Formats: sequence, structure tokens, C-alpha cells
Amino acid sequence: MAFKIYNTLSRKKEIFKPLKGKTVRMYTCGPTVYDYAHIGNLRTYVNEDLLKRYLLWKGFRVKHVTNVTDVGHLTDDADQGEDKMVVAEQREHKSAWDIAAFYEKVFKNDLELLGALMPDIWCRATDHISEQITLVRTLERKGYTYKIRDGVYFDTSRLKDYGKLARLNIEGLKAGARVEVTAGKRNATDFALWKLTPAGTLRHMEWDSPWGRGFPGWHIECSAMAMKYLGRTLDVHAGGIDHIPVHHTNEIAQSEAATGRPFAKYWFHCEFLNVSDTKISDNWSETSKARPLKMAKSKGNFLRLQSVIDETFTPRQLRFFYLTAHYRTQQLFSWESLKNAANTLDKLDEFMDRLARHKNGKSSTAVRKLVAEVRKEFERTMDDDLNVPEMWASLHHFVGSINKLLETKAMASRDAQRVLDTMHDFDSVLAVLRKEERPLPAEVKKLIEQREEMRKQKDFTAADELRKRLLDQYGIEVQDTSEGPRWRFIK
Ligand SMILES: [Zn+2]
Repeated sequence: MAFKIYNTLSRKKEIFKPLKGKTVRMYTCGPTVYDYAHIGNLRTYVNEDLLKRYLLWKGFRVKHVTNVTDVGHLTDDADQGEDKMVVAEQREHKSAWDIAAFYEKVFKNDLELLGALMPDIWCRATDHISEQITLVRTLERKGYTYKIRDGVYFDTSRLKDYGKLARLNIEGLKAGARVEVTAGKRNATDFALWKLTPAGTLRHMEWDSPWGRGFPGWHIECSAMAMKYLGRTLDVHAGGIDHIPVHHTNEIAQSEAATGRPFAKYWFHCEFLNVSDTKISDNWSETSKARPLKMAKSKGNFLRLQSVIDETFTPRQLRFFYLTAHYRTQQLFSWESLKNAANTLDKLDEFMDRLARHKNGKSSTAVRKLVAEVRKEFERTMDDDLNVPEMWASLHHFVGSINKLLETKAMASRDAQRVLDTMHDFDSVLAVLRKEERPLPAEVKKLIEQREEMRKQKDFTAADELRKRLLDQYGIEVQDTSEGPRWRFIK
């Protein structure tokens, strides 16, 4: 069966076929490391991870590159405003280098907690200044640039199909263009390739260039690094939907002007996560009544992964929540919807536990049939542009049928194993199931015993505190049963 993927460039679902053999060269736009990633950004990364994992499941090899923007991204995507790193310097009283290092680490940690596979190559904009300068020189040689006081700009009027990804109405843009904020800019859509440091300004991040001391424009880094590591035409270029009109449009313009070839075959974009505009601490019922609002750092209404953990949810539950919605539809986040997702995930965990515990039962051909059906459905739905809502519907139906067989003991342990194997196979794509039971560290064993002792002494306050510590520090949930404490990893 062939995988079909929606291509923003053609606005159609297309059969996925890499340019060369079975290797997919995939570039995903990474974070601007001037602040924490919010849960809207993270939704995009999780869906990109779903795409990557599904490609691997389909038997492709994936060469994956992600950039880290640590310079040049201005507060307004269209080259106006201040460098976001400089804004952060003023906010945190640290150098841009320290800020970038800090948020890059946090970001990578977030991705790991969310179960994302790491890219083969992480590349920082500041480590690739010479590649960016070389690309700007190529564009200059080909006559696509002009220099003004502010820096070197790309002349978008020189490209016939400028704006094709976003289907920009260039004439309309011209008519409605604001009075130019950057003196000397020829067209409203022209963008900076190299910004010059204004005289008398001190920057922590600046480099010499043929045009003078300054720093690269935001878009040029992605073109330079993507082509360096993946070649002139990529198979997949991915990012958030907000990248379409400016960032990806300009990446296409400068890359295709430089090489004369298509920059990427498939453009993959993830929709927004909307979040109610009440505060994090507001209770669920209030939150769910609030109107949806696009989440943006600049609006100061963002939640990050730690906010979710602080509300006692796990990154795994958040990942599962993301994957209940199709990546091309807007998703509404509320604490209530996250709670619902967490409950559904609990049921899946219970299902896996029941299967693992299942011993004696009569063998039945029904299991084999159900497994064959669900495998077919999994592939059919995922082949359809990662149609996760349909995939979950068929998977939940499958779980229901298997549960019935478990109840009536119409299943041999061999059958149960077959179901477990199938679930783990799907989970190599979804990555939402609990990790295999890991051995309990000795110090944790001791803590659980200590807690049992506290309970026997009826010191429930101390026992509760220890229970919380086990959860926060080790990701272990302890349940008290009539047969003594039971524990499980939930992170
Ligand atoms: Zn990019």
C-alpha cells in the first residue's frame, strides 16, 4: 500500500516517493532558542516525529536534520523589530550565547520527554555563518540581491513564482503594502539576507562579511544548512503552518534562485494548537468555557511542557493528546481535554497489563483474524495522510473485541502475546505506550518499603509525601492494594 501525504505546495494528497531510492531526506525547522517552546510548538514537533516514525515503519530510511535558530530571528517575521536573542538578553541580563545554550538544552530535553526520535544532525545557525555568506554571495552573483543601509536584501520581484507555496497575491500585497518601514526596500515582500550592525551598536553576536559586520537574516540559515546536509532538493520540509507565508516562502525563493531546482518535494505543515485564554491555575470548567485563542509567545499566553508536568500530567499523556487530532486540523487544548486523553491512555495501559498477565485460556482463531484486520486498518488509515482519528477508532474497536475474549478466557497466552506484539509494533510509530517495565532501582525499592512502614505506623502525611516524591523524582506511581503496594512507571 502506498503512503499518501498532503503537500502544501500542491494543496493535494500525493503518493509519497522519495527522489532517490528508499532514503528520505527530511528537514524540520527547529526552535528559536530565546525562550521556552510552548505546547503549540511542541505539537508540531510531535507530529513531525509521527511522520518520521511512520516513514520508518513503512521501510524507508530517514536522514533527518533540524536547525537551532540562535541568531537573526526578529520579533516580526518580516525583518522588522529586534533580534529575539537581543530581546532575551535584555530580559535575562545574560549574553545571547548563554541564553541560546540554555534554551537549546531545554528544548532537546522537552523533545526527549515527549518521546521524539532525535534528528541525525542538529545544526546551529551560528555554526554555519560561512555557509550562509557563501549562499548570499551566490544570490548576489546571480543578480537577486541589492544592498541598502540596513543590509543585503533579496529582490522578490526577480522571481516569477515568488509566493507559490502560500499562493500569495503579490499584486494585492503591493496595493495594500504599508509605508515602507525599512528605508530603501524595493518590494513589500523583499527580505533580509544579511543585516548590518548599525553604527554605534554593540552586539554579542556579529560577524564580518563582504558587506560589513552584521548577522544573517533568519531564513538564509535554513536554506544553507538544509542544502549542506541534505542536498539541493529535499524530500520533506516540515514546520508549523505559520511558516508558510514568510519563512518557508522565503526559503524557497532564495534556495531555488541559487540552484535553479525545486527546494523540496513535499511540504508538511502542522496546524495550530489553540488554547483557552484563562490562566494556567484556573480550574477546568472555567478553562473549557473560555474562547479559543492562537497560542503565541509574543502574546504571553503560552504554556510549556513544564506547566503541564506541574499540573501532574506526564509528557507521555501530552503526546497522546496531540496524537488524537489530525495534524492538519486545529486542536483545542484545555485541561479537561488533556484529562480525557489521559484517561483513555490509562485504559490502554490497563489493556497491556491484562494481556501481559493473561495466562490460561483456550486458543481461538478469532484473535488471529482480529489482529490481521487491525493491522490492515492501521496501515490503511495511516497511509491516508496520517489519519490518526480513524486509526484510533479502529484500534479502540480492536481493544474492545480483545477485551471481550480476555473476559471469556477465549484466548491462549500465545494469542495474548500476538496482540502484545502487534500493539508494540504500532507503538514504534505512536510512541505512547508505557515503556517496558524497567527494573526498579535499589534506592527506589528502599523508598517504597519505607513508605509501607509509614503506612503501618499510620503516618499517612509522610507516606503521601513520599508517594509524591516517587512520582516527581522517579516517575513511579505507587498504588496501595490489599496485597501490598503496586508500582508502575508512568513517565
Ligand atoms: Zn526554517
